[in-house]
Amino acid sequence: MNRYIDLSHTIEHGMITYKGLPAPIVCDYLSREKSKALYADGTEFQIGKIEMISNTGTYVDTPFHRYETGKDLSEIVIEKLVDLDAITIQADYRIGIEIGKSFFENKNVNGKAVLINTGWSKFWRTDAYFENHPFLTEEAAIYLRDQRVILVGIDSHNIDDTRGNSRPTHTTLLGAEILISEHLCNLDQLPESGFTFTAVPPKVKGVGTFPVRAFATLKK
Ligand SMILES: [Zn+2]
Repeated sequence: MNRYIDLSHTIEHGMITYKGLPAPIVCDYLSREKSKALYADGTEFQIGKIEMISNTGTYVDTPFHRYETGKDLSEIVIEKLVDLDAITIQADYRIGIEIGKSFFENKNVNGKAVLINTGWSKFWRTDAYFENHPFLTEEAAIYLRDQRVILVGIDSHNIDDTRGNSRPTHTTLLGAEILISEHLCNLDQLPESGFTFTAVPPKVKGVGTFPVRAFATLKK
């Protein structure tokens, strides 16, 4: 039996993921009560309706998020999303919020999903989550790109420094077709290696980001 660790936040009505962007509206399209008129006695259904921006909850960014001609959700092959050999990097936000290439240099990151455990997810759904969060430097992004990693995940508000307006880490990683996963959680429960990472969005044309059920598989 494999063991699974859920690395995703729950998405709820009214929940803000990103400061300045709207919360999802989760409601009934067809309520159980109204459905009773459509079905036989004792048979009822709910059909939900969700209105949300694509950057909601724990999500994956594909190149289209940053680049008009980049691959969108529908164009990412399943091999880039499922059962990726993974490594956990410890980068405690209390030591510093700037994550440079020295965190990765003596680690075997080549060809892997690199998951950065900063501890920031403990501020999820508080005002503290949005400001002065840990991020990956451009130099670190270039190093990981050159190491040919498959995906980079972080439990922070943004993988880039949001104090300025440039987004060099998104630019570098997505420009090399390296996927990004943000707003992960429970990374403190992961071993350093010997597990895989899975995070699969739906196949939507013309959208670059979408919520995922991200999880780790610990093989027995
Ligand atoms: Zn992003």
